[in-house]
Amino acid sequence: IQDLTLKRGGRTILRKINLTIRAGEIYGILGPNGAGKSSLAYAIMGCNDYQPDEGKIIFKGQEITNLPIWRRAKLKITLAWQEPARFEGVTAEDYLLLGMEEKNRVEAEEALQKVLLEPKEYLKRKVDKTLSGGERKRIELAAIFAMRPQLAILDEPDSGIDILALDRIIGFIRELREKEKTVILITHRAEIARIAERAVLIGEGYLVKEGSSQDVVEYYENRCLPCPKFR
Ligand code: ADP
Ligand code: MG
Repeated sequence: IQDLTLKRGGRTILRKINLTIRAGEIYGILGPNGAGKSSLAYAIMGCNDYQPDEGKIIFKGQEITNLPIWRRAKLKITLAWQEPARFEGVTAEDYLLLGMEEKNRVEAEEALQKVLLEPKEYLKRKVDKTLSGGERKRIELAAIFAMRPQLAILDEPDSGIDILALDRIIGFIRELREKEKTVILITHRAEIARIAERAVLIGEGYLVKEGSSQDVVEYYENRCLPCPKFR
């Protein structure tokens, strides 16, 4: 990510962000609410209305800054939303199989088990308002696992997930990063950012600090001043 600037509604949301994320690592994006983390995720994924105003995004040597979202999906970049979507009439099974290049029901069931959902109970459930936010979040994470992406952008994967299941979600993220698979892990919680090897701290659209996740977490917890609007 080179000099990425994103402006929306007359405001600058991201300011000249430079990041190099290596293949095969878990890379943390840490920062308080409103820092610009989700906007950065949408820009990398290529969501509508999140085209950068300046700068470039390069994926495996290819510039993708202006590619539409579906072209990026074909490059096996995927995003788990902070607020997972609802799909009227679509079952968890349909949803899981849809993302898999080779449809495999056994693997879909295994993916559900990874996020602690019993396949027998959940495969036929509709991915709509009858599921809790946490259950939808888990089904979305399972779908990403089954999809075997090259780059998985996980936007606050722990939100809505029971604190007791957190260890399992952490294990899940580690497993997602197989050989040469890359995970961008977005969070506002230091204990989640610690799973990453390297991380960046973003505040009010600025890159505040980059480095090992230990250093970035230490800075966030002990040395990061509140952003001006909170002072
Ligand atoms: P985070 O994920 O770190 O909490 P966001 O990326 O969601 O932060 O938001 C960063 C800031 O950008 C917020 O102040 C938010 O209101 C603003 N923002 C995000 N998207 C838009 C948009 N499409 N139009 C106007 N403002 C936006
Ligand atoms: Mg966010």
